[in-house]
Amino acid sequence: MSQRDYYEILGVSRKAEEDEIKRAYRKLALKYHPDHNPGDAEAEQKFKEAAEAYEVLRDPDKRARYDRFGHAGVQGGTGGFGSNEDIFAHFSDIFGDLFGFAGGGRTSRGMAGADLRYNLTVSFAQAARGAEINLSLPKRVSCPECDGSGAAPGSKPETCRHCGGSGQVRRSQGFFQIAMPCPICQGAGKVISKPCPRCKGEGTVADTRELTVRVPAGVDTGTRLRLRGEGEPGTHGGPAGDLYVVLTVEQDKRWVREGQDLVFRQEISFVQAALGHKVEVPGLDGPLPLEIPKGVQSGALLRLPGEGLPWPGRNQRGDILVHVVVLTPTRLTARQEELLREFEAAAEERPLEKVKKATKKIRKAMGLD
Ligand SMILES: [Zn+2]
Ligand SMILES: [Zn+2]
Repeated sequence: MSQRDYYEILGVSRKAEEDEIKRAYRKLALKYHPDHNPGDAEAEQKFKEAAEAYEVLRDPDKRARYDRFGHAGVQGGTGGFGSNEDIFAHFSDIFGDLFGFAGGGRTSRGMAGADLRYNLTVSFAQAARGAEINLSLPKRVSCPECDGSGAAPGSKPETCRHCGGSGQVRRSQGFFQIAMPCPICQGAGKVISKPCPRCKGEGTVADTRELTVRVPAGVDTGTRLRLRGEGEPGTHGGPAGDLYVVLTVEQDKRWVREGQDLVFRQEISFVQAALGHKVEVPGLDGPLPLEIPKGVQSGALLRLPGEGLPWPGRNQRGDILVHVVVLTPTRLTARQEELLREFEAAAEERPLEKVKKATKKIRKAMGLD
């Protein structure tokens, strides 16, 4: 297959400057872009050809080789494109997003409705088990008087003269054009000369709406629930916004919540700590028996796995953590004190021996003995 000369393809002389080559390519690329020539195989071929020519001529090194050796000089790693994607990647390098805009990325002419935020406080139990909550919220709805058109009954929105009803105006950027929303009708394509008295031409009016929010089990303060399409309605046929329900979860005094874990503070006496003790800890579904092992230290955390809050959307729960706090008695009877001294005397015999030994070692190491 014979290949056309790259300069010929771009319609530039062999002495053309970089700028001229770029301009020539832009022109051809816009003309033959597949979006503008759907199903036109010849245009596609020309589009590819131009891209290939530009790929070589834009690069001084490749261009020099091409000038010297012709197509053979730029074959292999550089000649030709592997796939359409390469061509389009290249294309967007030059034109950026501008072309996407001009090519009609906007499908709807209307304006999307605003998103709404609603702050909702739920009880701890509602958050723990999940709940369905009915809300009555202020909301703008399509005006019943004018059916959302914004035009007074008996009149109609008129075609915008500025943009001829297209909703877009074209602005020249160099030699090619980009489309912008019309500043007069804000992209609607229509203007209202006699506004509807009820909605003052807005097309929407204030109302309240009843809504049921499903709160999943295990949610926490700050959780955002998104209700698609429950925000403000769009104007001129634009999509409705979303409603974001932002949750505040009340605390339960029995536990301190840490994510999906619940921390419970269990106080025991120092005797119970020494001897071990059976307690009942409050759980989400009723009291939970727990055996505190003998010799437990104050500050220990004992775990009741899977007794905490559910993870939203997962079949899994956090844990209950029992924070053991050993209480030291502040008032003792004479008898208690006597027993404790006896206890201490019995307990301290060995530890004292140890301390003496350790002290001796340290003194020796420090050269004091
Ligand atoms: Zn109205
Ligand atoms: Zn307009």
